[in-house]
Amino acid sequence: MFKIFYIFSQSLFLAVALILCLATVRQVEAREVSDSVRMPQKRGVVLYPSDLISVGESEWVSRLRDAGINLLGIHADTVFEPLSQLEKYVKSPQGSNLLRLCAENGIEVEYELHVLQSLLPRDLFETHSEYFRMDTEGKRSQKYNICFTSEGAYRVIERELKKVTEWLKPTTGRYFFWTDDVTDGFCHCPECEEYSASEQSLIYENRLLKMLRDQFGPKVTLAHLAYNQTLPPPIKVKPIEGIFLEYAPIGRDYSKPLSEKHQASLEENLKIFPACSAHVLEYWLDVSMFSGWKIQQLQPLPWDEANCRRDILFYEGKGIDSITTFAAWINQDFLRKYGREETWKILSEYGSIFEGKTDLPE
Ligand SMILES: [Zn+2]
Repeated sequence: MFKIFYIFSQSLFLAVALILCLATVRQVEAREVSDSVRMPQKRGVVLYPSDLISVGESEWVSRLRDAGINLLGIHADTVFEPLSQLEKYVKSPQGSNLLRLCAENGIEVEYELHVLQSLLPRDLFETHSEYFRMDTEGKRSQKYNICFTSEGAYRVIERELKKVTEWLKPTTGRYFFWTDDVTDGFCHCPECEEYSASEQSLIYENRLLKMLRDQFGPKVTLAHLAYNQTLPPPIKVKPIEGIFLEYAPIGRDYSKPLSEKHQASLEENLKIFPACSAHVLEYWLDVSMFSGWKIQQLQPLPWDEANCRRDILFYEGKGIDSITTFAAWINQDFLRKYGREETWKILSEYGSIFEGKTDLPE
């Protein structure tokens, strides 16, 4: 009986979710006729803790607010700024000040993280190599990611996740715990081998979301990152309710519209994940990427307002209501090198696109 009730309630939930999605898509289609950008619910930038520290949280928050940005993602990874650095920042007086200022100015805060290496401590390799990924040579390796079908690995991750979520609290209820940022970092053991990179990611994300919901209830959600190797949609593994698509088209050419390959991968993913909860992570303002990730050689942003507007219209035409961009390494060095006011003008132009303004600020 309980099972029947459960199935009935799940079906009812899915039906309501579908109706809401369709209603959103219809509204988007209707708005598209006017060819102007509507106001997505979430309009953001993603920064490293060091960007916030070097420019100062007061200046960042006032610039974001003035530009109409209402979402700040803070980034950590295992290459430049690890999870421990983010923790130190969030717990510092500056971090507390940032969170307070964001709350006062209507800016949501969430954490976009490439930190799976930290969720499964690497020193466990000595005693539990089976928790770790098998490379293409058939050898277990503690470098990057995990064995995505290892129950032992998930037991450790659940314990570590509880420690992290004591201090890491996104105001949106959306969590981002991506797999490691590496090419061919997935598992080739006999159990994992049958799954693609996207499917191995989704096995991990489904497990992680269950852990988060056990802890925080049914409202929290978790990103499935479609990016590099995980750009093709998962087929053999289905997302549980609460997993949302995060589409990050790294490697695209910013002087041209989104390529047909990228467009197709987004459309294929939107057959699996609902459009109304999907989130785009772009690179329009990503100094780190446009500098080839060489912090000593910061390059200017190839900013083109018209191109960015074209991209945003495209995403909104797909029913996507949450859009952000990396703006990593917009720091004091960058502002000194390429101009403080010039840089904030770019941020303002980016924000203005969401407001549907056609006249750009002087
Ligand atoms: Zn495996």
